[in-house]
Amino acid sequence: MKIVKTVSEIREIIKEWRKAGYSIGLVPTMGYLHAGHGSLIKQSVKNNDKTVVSVFVNPTQFGPNEDLEKYPRDIKRDSELVQSLGGDIIFNPEPEEMYKKNNATTVKVEVLSQKLCGVTRPIHFAGVCQVVSKLFNIVTPDNAYFGLKDFQQYVIINKMVEDLNFPVKINPCAIVREESGLALSSRNVYLTDEERKSALSLNQSLRYAKSLISSGEKRASFIIDEITKIINNVPYSKIDYVKIVDIDTLDDIDTVENRYAVLLAVYIGKTRLIDNFAELS
Ligand code: AMP
Repeated sequence: MKIVKTVSEIREIIKEWRKAGYSIGLVPTMGYLHAGHGSLIKQSVKNNDKTVVSVFVNPTQFGPNEDLEKYPRDIKRDSELVQSLGGDIIFNPEPEEMYKKNNATTVKVEVLSQKLCGVTRPIHFAGVCQVVSKLFNIVTPDNAYFGLKDFQQYVIINKMVEDLNFPVKINPCAIVREESGLALSSRNVYLTDEERKSALSLNQSLRYAKSLISSGEKRASFIIDEITKIINNVPYSKIDYVKIVDIDTLDDIDTVENRYAVLLAVYIGKTRLIDNFAELS
């Protein structure tokens, strides 16, 4: 396993891999890897000859008052995990390597990027699409792996790939949770012990919503109210949004039938957490 810092070096390696006829999987991450990232890496290693894990805290997807500076980083631990899972390369460029001073090109998936998380994070998805397009052009993967934990991101990346004809297959990966039900996230390290207890309300409310839907409840507004009550009932919580949407348009729906997602964004103290469950068929 090798850590590569420059675009030119990774391009050389990819050229050799292509000559040898290898298939390539890409797992884009911001590092501080956990078992959620690990499940994406495992799928890539299983289904491709070579796996590149990018570790890059992308400045263009952070708003001015967000946590870019304090976002956790530990490349040594990340490389141990990637090595142990059979990944071949960590691509870990510095921001100056990815973005030249006169960078002028952005990639914006209209409409979908303005909904849900896009309301409080208006530039976020343009930054994500910009860096993911660059990674696709640099690594030229056959397969790329994205977690359903970031459900809106998954929908937007699919749209971008379709609209811009990127020759890559996007593979969705299930949400990995702690035994407590809390979805794994690099940002969980920000939580105090007390906040962590409150954070369990996200998954608890989603599980309750799932049980309501399984027993025949179809009214989105009723389900949203029940979720809201559970989350508002714990200390330190402040809801950003609770939504039930169509999975293609991300528009709100009134009646829960098929192809829907129940999505939450909640501040626990100062930490903004997201979680969801989706019915993709
Ligand atoms: P991040 O490092 O947070 O940008 O995440 C990199 C990739 O890992 C994204 O595709 C995420 O959706 C995915 N991911 C993060 N947390 C989880 C999780 N708990 N389960 C599954 N995938 C995850």
